Amino acid sequence: MTTTNSGPVRTKPWDFGFISTEEFSELEKEYVMRVLEKKRVFRYIGQDIENSEAFKLEDLYRKRITTSHCLAVNSGTSALIAALVGADIGPGDEVIVPGYTYIATAAAVLAARAVPVIVEVDDTLTMDPRSFEAAITPHTKAVIPVHMRGVPCQMNEILDIAKAHGLTVIEDVAQANGGSYQGRPLGSMGDAGCFSFQQYKLVTAGEGGLVATSNDRIYSRASIYHDSAFVYWGTERQQTYEAIPGENYRLSELNAALALAQSQRIDSIIAKLREIKGAIVNCIADIPSIQLQRIPDPEGDVSYSLVFYLKDAEEAQSFSARLAAEGIPNGTINNNGFADRHIYTNWSYVLDKRGVSERDNPWTCASYKGNVEYSRDMCPNTLNWLGRAIAISLHQRMTEEDVSDVVHAIRKVADSMD
Ligand SMILES: *Cc1c(COP(=O)(O)O)cnc(C)c1O
Repeated sequence: MTTTNSGPVRTKPWDFGFISTEEFSELEKEYVMRVLEKKRVFRYIGQDIENSEAFKLEDLYRKRITTSHCLAVNSGTSALIAALVGADIGPGDEVIVPGYTYIATAAAVLAARAVPVIVEVDDTLTMDPRSFEAAITPHTKAVIPVHMRGVPCQMNEILDIAKAHGLTVIEDVAQANGGSYQGRPLGSMGDAGCFSFQQYKLVTAGEGGLVATSNDRIYSRASIYHDSAFVYWGTERQQTYEAIPGENYRLSELNAALALAQSQRIDSIIAKLREIKGAIVNCIADIPSIQLQRIPDPEGDVSYSLVFYLKDAEEAQSFSARLAAEGIPNGTINNNGFADRHIYTNWSYVLDKRGVSERDNPWTCASYKGNVEYSRDMCPNTLNWLGRAIAISLHQRMTEEDVSDVVHAIRKVADSMD
């Protein structure tokens, strides 16, 4: 390839933006206005419970995820907590989470008063099944595989290990709405799947979340937990199990309407993203000095993130700076100059075993008989992969010119480093 070294590949400004809110248009307005016109912003009103926006949202996800139940909630974090409590996970239990996930995954375990156990990710940047298996103790009750950056986890291996040890599997699908693994929707393979509709996610309601499950007990208990007054207005179908005290994780009708409109866009957005990522990957796969992220099922990748690895962290830093100088926004994942809350080394309250108070602390509570240890260097493979990684965020509006600039810049920098 002939590239002149004179100027940067890309001088035109980059089109930044959230995948989700870029799509706000007539449909979102119509659905939100419909709520205002109905003057009904709370889902459980009167006899018309199944005519709420929240119910319609649940219905859409029941069909998409193919689970028998879905429960709309007000965030991805609440979805995780409701699923954990629904599965009867709490004080005394250990829950295995990857060292690379949004901190809320670990925080949800603590909110349920269980103890998070941190394990390695591998070159997929999702949970390493061998590290998961090695971390199982007599106290382990559940595992939370996280489909990070839209990439499906190695679910066959994880499900097999979980089954052999009788563990509950809760998929964290917050970053991978619409993805799949070997033809199965993400969120349908574990005992429960948890989604988020926060603004950084593929589609958004501002705030919002959802639990998908085919387990009647998890569904009923999560529903009851999501609303302290649930037994007074929830449907009979949702109350097969005894009432337990709850919180308030209800989703407002305005958020539900926005999530409902946005969720109809998932497949078309992902089709575009796959086309864009596929085009870039095809043109850089042969570069010997970079290694592409391993994707357990490329067909199921949501495809908004392109990650590749350099030989070591130092090379990654240098490659990243040169790529930026070529006009391509990108980042290394570790050592990014800020305390990235997706990396376990920055989860201070977990590493320091700090509960909400000394009296209310999952690590020191009488029910907990285990002895989990944390340290900043406990997951060297995770830090190695993250340190060597370069990430470029993709966007459904990227043009052929954008794609070509990304490819040319990567090739030019790779050539210059040889
Ligand atoms: C965003 C996110 C969550 C939490 O979702 P919220 O809606 O922000 O509460 C949980 N896990 C992962 C992996 C996330 O990216």
